[in-house]
Amino acid sequence: MAQVRLESLHKAFGDNVVVDDLDLTIEDREFLTLVGPSGCGKSTTLRMICGLEKVGAGEVYFDDEPVGYLPANKRDVSMVFQSYALYPHKTVEQNIGFALQMMRVPRAEIGERVARTAASLGISELLGRKPRELSGGQRQRVALGRAIVRDAGAYLLDEPLSNLDAQLRGDMRVELKRLHADLSRTFIYVTHDQVEAMTMSDRIAVMKGGVLQQCAPPEDIYGRPANMFVASFMGSPP
Ligand code: ADP
Ligand code: MG
Repeated sequence: MAQVRLESLHKAFGDNVVVDDLDLTIEDREFLTLVGPSGCGKSTTLRMICGLEKVGAGEVYFDDEPVGYLPANKRDVSMVFQSYALYPHKTVEQNIGFALQMMRVPRAEIGERVARTAASLGISELLGRKPRELSGGQRQRVALGRAIVRDAGAYLLDEPLSNLDAQLRGDMRVELKRLHADLSRTFIYVTHDQVEAMTMSDRIAVMKGGVLQQCAPPEDIYGRPANMFVASFMGSPP
């Protein structure tokens, strides 16, 4: 179970206020998408949730427990990055299992969990290959596999499809939705792609300049935008 609550979350780099007084609750098992133009603070928000960036002010709660003091590896989250650097000399199986190996999970259990993860992503037949022998879409799946092989209350995905071509992005959207249903976990998904946000989300949170503009289900974001920015960014009819 993982509800993620952001309370008056704030972050500045020097004079540059990047996340400004953000209040947002992501419900357990929700698929919430954070959208907004490049530079609006989406990645910084995710990085504060997972602990890769220190909170400037405010607090992050997992199920009402403040986690601001916890290092990234002690938080019940797993993050997928935009650039999915795989270990080039390791096989797909070793790439996916690496985090578990670091956590000293017994070898037999690693094998089992990697096999299950690969099956859920449709890449079981690729386990013996090296990254250079994979297509872009296959690599993306391996990167996802590395994140979801770890059991976590919440999965944070930072533009995981942005390096893929349009066709593959469409396929992967469907895959990700299926994965969300299968895992039955909280997903916080970041994209600057309005179509992705509209098609995948339970709710969409629109940010601009570090400020949350609106958080609502897709049909409300589209049909009842809170302001001109949301309307123009999401392409609502005038
Ligand atoms: P987004 O993911 O929405 O594109 P980011 O959260 O990556 O936006 O960045 C928001 C702003 O914060 C940008 O202006 C960026 O240059 C700045 N920023 C992000 N990380 C750092 C950092 N470590 N040091 C200084 N500025 C940063
Ligand atoms: Mg970003």
